[in-house]
Amino acid sequence: MTNVTVLATPAKWPRLLIPAKPQAKPANLDAAVKAGAFAGLHTAIEELGPAATTAAVTKSGLRGRAGVGFSAGEKWRLCSLAAADRRYVVVNACQSDPAVMTDRLLLEMNPYAVLEGAAIAAFAVNATEVIVAVRAEARDAIRVLEEAIAAAEKAGYLGEDVMGSGFDIHVSIKALQGAYMLGEETVLLKGLEGKRGQPEQQPPYPTTSGLFGRPTLVHSPQTFAEVPAIIRGGPDGQAGIGPRAGAGTILVQVSGAVVNPGVAEVPLGTTLGAILDLAGGVAPKKQLKALLVGGPSGGILPPSALSIAYQHDTLDKAGAYIGSGSIVVIDQATCLVDLAAVLTRYCADEACGKTIPCRIGLRRLAEIGARICEGQPRGDELTRLADLSADIVASSLCDHERRTTLSLLSLVRYFRDELDAHILNSTCPAGICQMMAVSRVRAGS
Ligand code: SF4
Repeated sequence: MTNVTVLATPAKWPRLLIPAKPQAKPANLDAAVKAGAFAGLHTAIEELGPAATTAAVTKSGLRGRAGVGFSAGEKWRLCSLAAADRRYVVVNACQSDPAVMTDRLLLEMNPYAVLEGAAIAAFAVNATEVIVAVRAEARDAIRVLEEAIAAAEKAGYLGEDVMGSGFDIHVSIKALQGAYMLGEETVLLKGLEGKRGQPEQQPPYPTTSGLFGRPTLVHSPQTFAEVPAIIRGGPDGQAGIGPRAGAGTILVQVSGAVVNPGVAEVPLGTTLGAILDLAGGVAPKKQLKALLVGGPSGGILPPSALSIAYQHDTLDKAGAYIGSGSIVVIDQATCLVDLAAVLTRYCADEACGKTIPCRIGLRRLAEIGARICEGQPRGDELTRLADLSADIVASSLCDHERRTTLSLLSLVRYFRDELDAHILNSTCPAGICQMMAVSRVRAGS
C-alpha cells in the first residue's frame, strides 16, 4: 500500500473520500455496501433518471478537483448534449506531480466511491464505457481496483444490465506510463488512443470531441468519489460543505518542514493555516518562510497566506492554485530563488514541446532564474521576467505553460528582498546559491 500517513482531522469534519475507519480489505464489497456503497447509483437509476442526476450534481456546486475547477454538473450536461453514437467516461488517475499520492491513496482505500461515482456519471451522460486510467507504477491501486470491479460486476452493480435496469456500464483499467504531462486531460486521452502525448487545442473540449473523437467526460478520482454522497444525501448536503462556489472536501498532501507529513481530507475553504496545523505545524527548530502551493508549477506564498482559504478562487488571486493538491512547507534554510529556478527548469524540461512559446519561452525563463542564482544577472532581469511571463501566459496552449510562470512571479510579488539580494548584492541570504561566491571572486569583490 502507498506509504503515506493519513492525517487526523476534527471529528465534525465530513469524510467523503477517505473513510474515518478504513476497511482492512477495501475491495470487500459486502462491507462497502453496508456502509452505503452503490446506494447513490440505485437512486440515480431508480428515482432520478439522467437529467435529474446531472441537475443534482450541478446544484451541489461540485467542481473538478484538479485543473481549473470547472463545474462538474456543467461538464456532464455538455457531454450528454453532444450528438454521438457512443460516449466515454474516463477517471484520470494519472497525477502528474511525482511527490503526490492522493489519487493512489483514494483508489487503494475507497475504490467503490470512485467506481460508483464514475458509474453514476456514465448513467447520467449515457456512456456505457468507463475507463480508469492509472499510472502503471501504482500497482497496489490497480490490484485493489481489479478486485473491486470484479466483485461489483459479479453482484450486478457494474457490467451488463446494472441492477436490472437494462443499462450497461463496462469498466476497464488502463495502466499508462508517461511523463509529467500525462495528467493533462487531452494528453491522457491521446495516451489512451496509443498516440503521442501532446495536448490538443481547445475547443473542441473533450466533452464534445474526446476519446476517439467521441464525447468524453474526464474527472479526477476525487471528483468522482464525491458524487455518490451528493446523490444519496441530496445536493444541499454537499453544498453545505465548504464555500458555495466549490462544495465538498478535497485531499491535500502536506510535506516539507512539518512535524507530520501526510494526506488530509479537508473541506474546501479550510485555511492554509488550519491545514498546516493538521500536519502538526512547523517542525521544531524550523521557521516558516514560505508555502509552495500547487506542486512543481504552483506558486510560492508568504507566511501571511496562512489565512487564505484553500479553494480555487482565493488561491488563484494569491498567485497559486490547487494543482496537484500539494502544500510544501518551506523553512528559513531554503533559498526561494534557487527553489523557483529549479521548479521552472523542471517544468521546462517536462513541457511536451508542441508550442514554440512554451518550448523556448520556459527555457528562457529557467535561464533567467539560473542567472540570478549564479549572481550573473543581465540588465533588467525582472522586467524581462515579467514581459516573458506575460507573453507565455498569453500564448499558452495548455495550462502547464501558464502555471509554470507562477513560482518566479511569486518571488517578484512576495519575496522582492530575496530577489534583490541576489540581483543587486550578489548575496544569497540562505547561503544556498554557491555560484554567488564564485561570481564575486570573479568580479574581484
Ligand atoms: S504549452 Fe507547453 S506543455 Fe502545453 S502543449 Fe505547448 S509545449 Fe506542450
